[in-house]
Amino acid sequence: MILFARQLWVPFRSPEPGRFSMLKAFAIQLYSRVSYLRYRMNSTCIFCKIASGEIPAEIVYKDELVTAFRDIHPVAPTHVLIVPNKHIQSVSQAEAEDEQTLGRLFTTARKVAELDGIVDAGYRTIVNSGAHGGQTVFHLHMHVIGGQRMKYPMG
Ligand code: 5GP
Ligand code: ZN
Repeated sequence: MILFARQLWVPFRSPEPGRFSMLKAFAIQLYSRVSYLRYRMNSTCIFCKIASGEIPAEIVYKDELVTAFRDIHPVAPTHVLIVPNKHIQSVSQAEAEDEQTLGRLFTTARKVAELDGIVDAGYRTIVNSGAHGGQTVFHLHMHVIGGQRMKYPMG
C-alpha cells in the first residue's frame, strides 16, 4: 500500500511536467492503476473478447495474428486500435516468440491508414505501457490516430 501511494505521488515530484498539467498526469495514472486493479480482480480482458468476437466492435481488419477496430472514444477522425489476437498484457510482457505479431501491428497500421485514406497526410502510432505510460486496458494495443494534424509536444 505504501509503495502504491509513493508511485501515485511521482508526477508531483516530476521536475519537468511540461505543458501536461500535474493534475491531469495524476488523474491518468490513477485511472490506469484502478483499471489495472479491476483487470486483475476480474481476470477478464475486454480486448480478448473483442478479438474473439464475444463482444462487438467496429472491426476494420482481422487476420490470424491481429485484430483492428475503432476506438470507442475517438480522439481524432481516425482512431483505430490494433491488438494481438493472443493476450499479451503490455510491451513489458512481450517475448521473442511474439516478434512476428509485434511486427504485424506496424504493417496493419499501414493497412488501416490506407483504408482511411491518411497514408500521405500522415498519422501517429502510440503504444502506452503501464501506469506512467497511461495504459488503461491491459492487453497490448497500438493506437493509430490521424485525419487531423497531431499536437506537440508529447509527454
Ligand atoms: P490505453 O489508454 O490503454 O492506451 O487505451 C485504451 C483505449 O481503449 C482507449 O482509447 C479507450 O477509449 C479504448 N477502449 C476501452 N474500452 C473499449 C471498448 O470496449 N471498445 C473499444 N472499441 N474501445 C475501447
Ligand atoms: Zn486480452
